Amino acid sequence: MRLAEKDLKYIWHPCSQMKDYEELPPIIIDHGKGVYLYDMEGNAYIDIVSSWWCNLLGHCNPKINAGIKAQLDKLEHVIFANFSHEPAISLCEQLIEIIPNGLTKFNFSDNGSASVECALKMAFQYQYQTGHPRKKRFMCLSDGYHGETIGALSVGTMDLYAKIYQPMLMDTIRIEAPDCYRCPYGACRDNCSAACIASAKEAFVRYGEETCAMIVEPLLQGSAGMRIYPPVYLKKLRALCDQYDVLLIADEIATGFGRTGKMFAFDHAGASPDILCMSKGLTGGYLPMAITVTTDQIYDAFYADYNEGKAFMHSHTYSGNPLGCAAALAVQKIFREEPILENAAKRASFLTQALLDAFADCPHIGEIRHIGLIHAMEIVKDADTKEAFPAKWRVGYQVYKKALRRGLLLRPLGDVLYFNPPLIIEEAELLQAVKICRECLLETLEEIC
Ligand SMILES: *Cc1c(COP(=O)(O)O)cnc(C)c1O
Repeated sequence: MRLAEKDLKYIWHPCSQMKDYEELPPIIIDHGKGVYLYDMEGNAYIDIVSSWWCNLLGHCNPKINAGIKAQLDKLEHVIFANFSHEPAISLCEQLIEIIPNGLTKFNFSDNGSASVECALKMAFQYQYQTGHPRKKRFMCLSDGYHGETIGALSVGTMDLYAKIYQPMLMDTIRIEAPDCYRCPYGACRDNCSAACIASAKEAFVRYGEETCAMIVEPLLQGSAGMRIYPPVYLKKLRALCDQYDVLLIADEIATGFGRTGKMFAFDHAGASPDILCMSKGLTGGYLPMAITVTTDQIYDAFYADYNEGKAFMHSHTYSGNPLGCAAALAVQKIFREEPILENAAKRASFLTQALLDAFADCPHIGEIRHIGLIHAMEIVKDADTKEAFPAKWRVGYQVYKKALRRGLLLRPLGDVLYFNPPLIIEEAELLQAVKICRECLLETLEEIC
């Protein structure tokens, strides 16, 4: 039996309608190098989506490989309650230098969703233990995504992932998110004063007293289609949270580690959250690890004699896994030794121009938007009215299939095509990706229009 057939015999792939695999069987990857993935037949694919936004510094990066290998011969894992190890301690010492100010205490888990659950429970218990038992609910933005577990889904608001589970989910308070491409105020992202904060204000006035925390994807709503909003909105949200004693949770799982041009998206706003979730790029996309970081103020509300029952009784078996820490340490070493952010900024300008050049004449590109090296293009039926193609046509998916055949992994979000490559991508690789993307989009449009 061929490998792909065996795969389908056994494996239920994530986020997939498995029937689609009849027409597009799984591509079996043999090895990776830099921005390239290679299948069993030796075909190369540019990994322009960083394998779900996590690969930060290239596949099989020699320095990260070496870091993990060295750790592997010393210690693979140890219980993290009452035990610790040097890689975890060094990692915190180094991360504290690069995360937003005031975040000082690190709680380890093993995936992004888990770090969100941890943040939600931490916020709830903090309010409870500091005399605010009425503060039980969470606020979140529309079109937000925070992971797949029940708590994370509850504060997520994308019907595609959450709707069917509604009866299982918490009753959260939804705030209309900024939508800069289709701005209801007719404003422009680059010089607006976030008039759309009005819906947040209303929600805080009505529900502030019963809200323990608000969770946001700062500046970039990734799963919503790489929707980008300006830092001024985040600043205003921070002020509202302070005014109403609502904790602010930053889900920087997608935005952390240089993806938005600065180390963390909150840095653009010159503000800090009360709790920050990180994962994906943390280990360079190598190993499943996440951290929920918080302030002394929150930590102190749990610190008491054991019998007061204030401890955070939250744990995951693989908390603080040493191999994950070794990978993360190697990533931090690379950031210190190489001009990763500077180079990514140069590549970002280059990519912006390349996309503008390649798609200037295409009437079906609604917007080309970018933050850091992340670039997204919204394919629409009519660029003037911003009317979308019928979702059933799966335009983005058609482009995706064509791009795979030409060596580009361009997995879209609905009809939004996006580039979110490893930060070490080269100009020639970007040009190649843009070229394939253009050909595949034009072909698809020809077929459907
Ligand atoms: C990926 C992601 C998550 C979930 O992380 P997992 O490791 O897939 O559980 C949560 N929030 C954001 C913003 C993400 O991009």
